[in-house]
Amino acid sequence: MSGKIGTVPISQVVSCLDGYDPDALHVDKAREAMRACITPISETQTLPIRESLGRVLAQEIVPAINVPSHDNSAMDGYAVRIADIDKPMTEIGTALAGKPFSGAVGAGQCVRIMTGGVMPAGTDTVVIQEVVKREGNRIIVPPGQKRAQNVRYAGEDLKVGVPVLGPGKLLRPAELGLIASLGIGEVRVVRRLRVAFFSTGDELASIGTALKEGEVYDSNRYTLHGMLERLGVEITDLGVVRDDPAALEAALRKAQAADAVITTGGVSVGEADFIKALMAKMGEVLFWKIAMRPGRPMAFGRIGASWLFGLPGNPVAVMVTFYQFVRHALLHLAGRTDGYAIPLLSATAADNIRKVPGRTEYQRGILFRDAGEWQVRITGQQGSGVLRSMAEANCFIVLEHERGAVKAGEQVRVQLFEGLA
Ligand code: AMP
Ligand code: MG
Repeated sequence: MSGKIGTVPISQVVSCLDGYDPDALHVDKAREAMRACITPISETQTLPIRESLGRVLAQEIVPAINVPSHDNSAMDGYAVRIADIDKPMTEIGTALAGKPFSGAVGAGQCVRIMTGGVMPAGTDTVVIQEVVKREGNRIIVPPGQKRAQNVRYAGEDLKVGVPVLGPGKLLRPAELGLIASLGIGEVRVVRRLRVAFFSTGDELASIGTALKEGEVYDSNRYTLHGMLERLGVEITDLGVVRDDPAALEAALRKAQAADAVITTGGVSVGEADFIKALMAKMGEVLFWKIAMRPGRPMAFGRIGASWLFGLPGNPVAVMVTFYQFVRHALLHLAGRTDGYAIPLLSATAADNIRKVPGRTEYQRGILFRDAGEWQVRITGQQGSGVLRSMAEANCFIVLEHERGAVKAGEQVRVQLFEGLA
């Protein structure tokens, strides 16, 4: 059972949301509306851990062993009994990582130990080798040592029976290592999402053909390709579709085999009507005017068994609406339950920024460091057709709904384009 399509009409779900207004929809409401409608997919598959990188975990990971499995030394030095260190001690053996000292350590004795070596029975503390004085096999330790220093305890990282990862977690390099540290070789993950997309517009030319008058090359399918690849979904690129009902219907029919369909273009006021009629015929689709810039018009709904995201045509609007809405919706659909909202960080505006209250703006910014302070400036022309602004930027400057013009020196919120893990 995929469970991806609920039986409740979308209009019924969203009409229950406080402050839902399809003609001036707050960005937070749009995100909330999508989330409220979409039920995550539940099909899973089992993969070797290396192949699970970037996937969503679909099981609980409960340690069957302690990590580390024994108390061991965090440093190279001497394993001692803290009660005995006032007098010279006798070194009676060595504990290496993977080669424990098998005897017991009695009063006045100690053991040479290396990082990762198992703490010999009877010892409780490690004194680092740099501070120790040796006279033959007599070991003299200076005062000031603390009980249990430099000891790593069994289960300090992971404890038997205490769940460490759960369903909905993105598997990053750290999680792969964590699972491996438990000796587990395979994990159950959510299957990859399938996303189909196409561009609409009579003015669009494909690469490889000469531009006729009034035509532009289709760039949206390339930015979408990149953004979807980065999300780790399976993609189907259905090409350019003319502004023609029959062609559009055929494309949508093909696309709806995917879990989600993304279209660009054709949802602005002048164009919406025939697409609206067509989408309404094929499923349930809401047409929103979102209080944002760029990216005001947007369609959201379902056709057949697939979620539909009808993005505006302007290249910057495509990227902004993708990152602000589609990304969230797809990660929710893919079963993510960990924090995947893009963090909002503070930076100082280096210039004045124009802004009117009543809509959220996503200006393209360059975050830079000046005299130890993080500042941000806009990339220049902010038109929704100026894709260069995205290429030059390293962050969005997110200007909140209520906010007016920004003066240089004020704090603004930014969202970095790049993440680490
Ligand atoms: P629309 O939303 O269809 O009215 O398109 C708005 C603007 O975006 C128009 O100037 C289109 O030419 C442009 N546009 C639409 N689709 C694409 C695309 N796939 N690649 C580049 N520009 C596009
Ligand atoms: Mg168009």
